[in-house]
Amino acid sequence: MNYCFVIRDDNESKNIKDLLTKKIKYDISDKNPDFVIAIGGDGTIIKASHKYPDAIIFGIHTGHLGHYANYSVEDVDILADDINNGTYKIQQLDLLSAEFVTKSGRIVNDYALNEVTIVSPLRTLILDVTIDDEFLERYRGTGLCISTPSGSTAYNKSLHGSIIDYNLKAMQLTEIAGINSTAYKTLSSPIVLSYDRRIKLEMAEGIEAPKDVFITVDHISYSINDLKTLYIFYNNKYLKMAYHKPEEFIKRITRSFLVSKK
Ligand code: NAP
Repeated sequence: MNYCFVIRDDNESKNIKDLLTKKIKYDISDKNPDFVIAIGGDGTIIKASHKYPDAIIFGIHTGHLGHYANYSVEDVDILADDINNGTYKIQQLDLLSAEFVTKSGRIVNDYALNEVTIVSPLRTLILDVTIDDEFLERYRGTGLCISTPSGSTAYNKSLHGSIIDYNLKAMQLTEIAGINSTAYKTLSSPIVLSYDRRIKLEMAEGIEAPKDVFITVDHISYSINDLKTLYIFYNNKYLKMAYHKPEEFIKRITRSFLVSKK
């Protein structure tokens, strides 16, 4: 058994790392670690999830929100005991699969814990949206965001999407500044889809595509100037987040968004 750390660059996170290093009995190694201790904010946990997707992640929040973390700074001893004695439990967080195909035939696959977005900040993006085999709409606007339940409190929330209970298996499609006029129409409402749906976003044929199109997968961004199709679906991949005591979903929402820190 071995483990490693992913930490935010601040003194509190570094001190907790030093403390845990003395308490945990296993060796530190960043080559295929069994456990990863992410100390910082949600951003730190997201980075850990991309770097070590197969490891069991222990999150301690020293960040602003710490929505994902299941351990607080006061829980350092509990976390060390959980790793040393195997007394932790696992929460599975579904990862969204993003697969995109370019006109030159390049295929890229990646996985998101929070969301996948497609955006064109300067020129209007025109996308044909198909869900399974049903054509939904020709979308015009800045972009679209497809989020997981655990990512529904991130970018999706700023787009006025719904907060989705972590216990639901779903994905949410939300518009980023869709254009609505007498000439153009979009659905306008966020749409929550079941786990087994497959979203296909195609660059509209015969219309000059914007040159600067970005596909983002959490904090990672791909700049594409010849996108053909982006598929978003679940592929039975999930992140293993460790916890000691389950935190009630509503408590997590209140501590993150309603009760301000003293
Ligand atoms: P980041 O600093 O890691 O994240 C931005 C903020 O979102 C931080 O305050 C972070 O909390 C919080 N956050 C992340 N995931 C969350 C979740 N699931 N629930 C609640 N809050 C969450 O920024 P980054 O390094 O660029 O990472 C990209 C993330 O930023 C994306 O996944 C996207 O969700 C978010 N983003 C948001 C907007 C927006 O809201 N307008 C625009 C672009 C991107 P901590 O302080 O605890 O880290």
